[in-house]
Amino acid sequence: MIQITVCPSCDSTEIRTVRQDWTGKFQGRLYTVPSLEFYECPDCGERIYDREAMRRIEAHSPAFAIRHVEKKAHVKAHA
Ligand SMILES: [Zn+2]
Repeated sequence: MIQITVCPSCDSTEIRTVRQDWTGKFQGRLYTVPSLEFYECPDCGERIYDREAMRRIEAHSPAFAIRHVEKKAHVKAHA
């Protein structure tokens, strides 16, 4: 986990890590990443995700799920 002590948006030192279910949106579709750890600034609402958090978001994102489906369909069409 990267260490952040000052919010890059508002310079608040109140920024801290939180672990909670994270809800994102992709093409109007909501998806949830359970127990995601990320930084959140209580003063301005800025959220910062480290590499691990980004990877978990990507793993749960429908954008990647769609890509997997397309890949499978492509392979099938040429089999
Ligand atoms: Zn802030």
